[in-house]
Amino acid sequence: MVTLVQKSVSTLVLERATKDAIVETQVYFCANYSRSLGKMAGTEVTNRAITLKHHVDDGKAQESDMELVTTKEKLELRGENDVIVRVLYLSCDPYLRGRMRSNRDSYVPPFTPGKPMGGYGIGKVVLSSDPNFKEGDTVSGLMDWADYSHAFRLTKVDGETVPVSYYLGALGMAGFTAYVGFFKICEPKKGETIYVSAASGAVGQMVGQFAKLFGCRVVGSAGSQQKVDLLKSKFGYDEAFNYKEESDLDGALKKYCPGGIDMYFENVGGQMLDAVLLNMKDFGRIAACGMVSQYNKEVQDPIHNLGYTIKRRLKLQGFIQSDHLDLQPEFYKNVTGWFKEGKLQYVEDVADGIEKAPAALIGMLEGKNIGKQSVKVSDP
Ligand code: NAP
Repeated sequence: MVTLVQKSVSTLVLERATKDAIVETQVYFCANYSRSLGKMAGTEVTNRAITLKHHVDDGKAQESDMELVTTKEKLELRGENDVIVRVLYLSCDPYLRGRMRSNRDSYVPPFTPGKPMGGYGIGKVVLSSDPNFKEGDTVSGLMDWADYSHAFRLTKVDGETVPVSYYLGALGMAGFTAYVGFFKICEPKKGETIYVSAASGAVGQMVGQFAKLFGCRVVGSAGSQQKVDLLKSKFGYDEAFNYKEESDLDGALKKYCPGGIDMYFENVGGQMLDAVLLNMKDFGRIAACGMVSQYNKEVQDPIHNLGYTIKRRLKLQGFIQSDHLDLQPEFYKNVTGWFKEGKLQYVEDVADGIEKAPAALIGMLEGKNIGKQSVKVSDP
């Protein structure tokens, strides 16, 4: 009998992106749904899923906090406008660390222990009662970390301009975050200097390239020489450095941004943010996108230099990409066009097999990923 019961609360939350909008729903399969469309309706499948064993409220999350669970399930739609996909790719994103906690005020709710984890993915439609999607369509959206999943907030994708996996990165949530953060929050002007932390990651590599296309001087930092080389040779960064080899971050920023920083695309927080504040130019802008260095910490590192926001008349603005969905049509049009014109590059780090998902997620949080971290679950 059907046991997949986790209709991701995340779906609702990510759609609406406010805590107020969280609506706890637990939707069970309608086993007898009579309008199941597709030849797999009622088929029993072996479904492997990655579940969270328990919340991880303190310290580093580990692979052993998750487990692979195999069940036999019947594929049945839940009613109107439902879609079940065979999962092709899953996205490993830093915000998932927050969902492994029970104890932090967040814009996304925690995962439920014993239930499949979930997030952004790419899937092939196997059953649909939604008139917008039919069996065989390839879609991106929200889905469980499983072989088969109900899927939400879907968009059809094709592999014509870019590989379909890019819809988790360059043309997915990461690329859109970079687009919103750079073009809207940073308020760029030609010729200005932008500094990007976690610069070679899923978001950072896009920020740097957007900034170069726009006509900025672009400086980035990353956690290994290999990543630093990539920044300069592939993504066109003007300067790049390995922050792990710099004992004096303030000194490093003065060296690589000698005239100061107009815009900081903040991905890491902590000591880096403190050092950047000392190096911002008057009327500089900080787009606070994420603070990945703090995600495994129960007590957050203190920031000492916030006084510089006043001295330098800075704008420091946090943002969540899903608050800016009005920019999505322009994002798809521009970014697809830039890929077609050969103006953008994208580097992915794809783990092979759903059983590798826990290691891929933990590895990404530790900086082991080179580019966008995702997991291939099955062949298209
Ligand atoms: P990513 O950069 O591909 O992967 C995370 C990277 O963080 C690692 O590769 C590592 O790179 C770096 N890192 C890990 N621990 C660190 C530490 N202690 N200090 C400094 N850097 C560390 O991830 P992403 O998906 O592109 O996300 C980048 C940031 O954007 C994250 O903060 C994420 O939360 C944020 N984000 C925000 C939104 C939004 O809507 N606001 C949406 C998506 C992502 P190094 O090897 O270079 O250290």
